[in-house]
Amino acid sequence: MGKKWIHILAAFAGIAAFLSIPVRGLALSDSSSYIRIGLYYGSSALSTANLENNTGHGSGYRFGYYDDSYHFTEVASTAQTQISMLKNSNIYLSGTTYYTYAPSGSYSTVGAYHIQLNTVYGSYSAASSAAKMYSGGFPAWIGGAYRARVGSYTTSAAAGAAMKSLGISNAEVVGGSETAITVTQTKTTAILFQFDGNGKNSLVVMPGKNNDVKAITWFKGYRYYGNFQYKRLSGGDLTVINVVPMEDYVKGILPYEMSSSWPREALKAQAVCARSYAACNYWKHQSLGFDLCNTTDCQVYRGVGSNSESSDQAVDDTAGLYVRYGDEIAETVYHSCDGGATEDVKNIWGSDLPYLKGVVDPFESYIAGSISSYYWNVTYTSAELTARLQSKGYACGNVVNVYISEYTPTGNPKTVTFVDSNGKTYSFSRTNLTSIFSTAGKSLRSYRYKIYSGSEEGTGGSVYYVNPGGGTLSSLNGVYALDGTGAAGQIGSSGNYVITGDGVQQLSPSSSSDTTASTTNSTFTISGSGWGHNLGMSQWGAYCMAKQGYTYDKILKFYYTNVTIS
Ligand SMILES: [Zn+2]
Repeated sequence: MGKKWIHILAAFAGIAAFLSIPVRGLALSDSSSYIRIGLYYGSSALSTANLENNTGHGSGYRFGYYDDSYHFTEVASTAQTQISMLKNSNIYLSGTTYYTYAPSGSYSTVGAYHIQLNTVYGSYSAASSAAKMYSGGFPAWIGGAYRARVGSYTTSAAAGAAMKSLGISNAEVVGGSETAITVTQTKTTAILFQFDGNGKNSLVVMPGKNNDVKAITWFKGYRYYGNFQYKRLSGGDLTVINVVPMEDYVKGILPYEMSSSWPREALKAQAVCARSYAACNYWKHQSLGFDLCNTTDCQVYRGVGSNSESSDQAVDDTAGLYVRYGDEIAETVYHSCDGGATEDVKNIWGSDLPYLKGVVDPFESYIAGSISSYYWNVTYTSAELTARLQSKGYACGNVVNVYISEYTPTGNPKTVTFVDSNGKTYSFSRTNLTSIFSTAGKSLRSYRYKIYSGSEEGTGGSVYYVNPGGGTLSSLNGVYALDGTGAAGQIGSSGNYVITGDGVQQLSPSSSSDTTASTTNSTFTISGSGWGHNLGMSQWGAYCMAKQGYTYDKILKFYYTNVTIS
């Protein structure tokens, strides 16, 4: 794990902003470790992105970059509170909205081409002073050098013509960079600054110019702590990343993963889970330039707008604490409710983890009857299941029976067997069952269930199917079979044998099930409890344990086997 963590983005906000403090050596549990959360990326990447921080929680911005060792180096700043980052292409402003195409009606432009003075300046202030000599001049940081640029034009030719008409000498036309980002005053075409890391460095915007104030910044309707990083992957739109201290990240997750009104110890358990899960998965989106995304794919994160005193306190109370198995941070997956028992990860996802073991959960019964959707049913017709198996490539006849043929030690289904009208059996582990049972709005809500054929729980040994060649009989009445001696006799009369999917079986005349065969119109109902993948902590179980007086560490140690919290 240590090696993975070399890459975690770590830096200091506030007073250390100018100091290039090395952070590689920070211990994992150091609460000042930063994590990079993708907010807009891939197909959701933005051509322009606004920030606003005139809310009293810090104002103004510093611009800079992280070097290979994740030190923040400041290269520029502004006291403006509403700024927009624009990719360096022709951007059109109509009303208060930026477009990448010329909109109908009147508009103004932030063009991709500029006049650049030939001088290289020694500082941001020197470049700013030189730029101010010209109307439309602005400072720029281009590949490590401070430059002064003038104007913005939609074509190189227009910039060249302007250079002549303005009488600017010792200058050249530049622009259209696939790595440059232009910073404007929001809702205007006024350029404040331009940054081009030439693909090596990405623009980092650090909100707030007052080191004593922890800045909160509005972005796309949500408020965030931390810094923003902008990457133009493959020269495209802006991938927007919130670079945030781990503890602030967890504060942003908690309200979306568990109600702030829940007992404190449950919230604390959830906080440690969320933190540990993030630490274990931070590498997940490295190809996109960040650690975790902000959706359910990783953990839902919308900044700090929805947190509360209660949820923040749960994070603070557990700051820097992780679930560990030996020296490793545990992959603390969690789910809504287990329905009565969790499950070994190897039975769900195929690979084993020593701390993700199934446990019988006696605590959820506290709420089982009172939360909606704790119990669930889904019914399939024989025809549906037949079609599902056939769509998976199995040349089966009509499915006439489905039953759980093997249970795990915690009582969850391990193997489900389908029997077709030819008596042939098809058995599947849960990994395959998920896709077989997922069809047209139907799916299994958890991995804890039983299967019923009519009102009877399905079994493999007591129901027989006789195939007359044209389908399945609805009744064995009047059907003859060979008995053990080879003589023909009517089924139900005495001791006949039939060949079933499980081999030769003697029919017991006293058993009603022997004379009732399933038909092709049968339905099978899967009756379950719980919601989720049944791995690790049950959130409702944590709620119940907390209500019954268990502390967060006891909750975590119940759901994760042989772990420590530190
Ligand atoms: Zn993700």
